[in-house]
Amino acid sequence: MSAVAEVLSTVAPDSNPRGSGLPTCPVCADSMVAAEASAYLTDNVISYLWTCDTCGYGFVTKHALKRFACN
Ligand SMILES: [Zn+2]
Repeated sequence: MSAVAEVLSTVAPDSNPRGSGLPTCPVCADSMVAAEASAYLTDNVISYLWTCDTCGYGFVTKHALKRFACN
């Protein structure tokens, strides 16, 4: 009769299997290879700046990072 309060937070699980985690250009659908830059929005949210080599279009993606430890 023990009440265990355990909260499992699942933040934006990566639904993509390995090998397809890179974004594609919304303009020409070309695959992005590497982010131009990255910046932390909060402690566990990071944004990446992508620039398409094919058409030059730039866009930003946001990613939720997993917490490594509970402080
Ligand atoms: Zn493009």
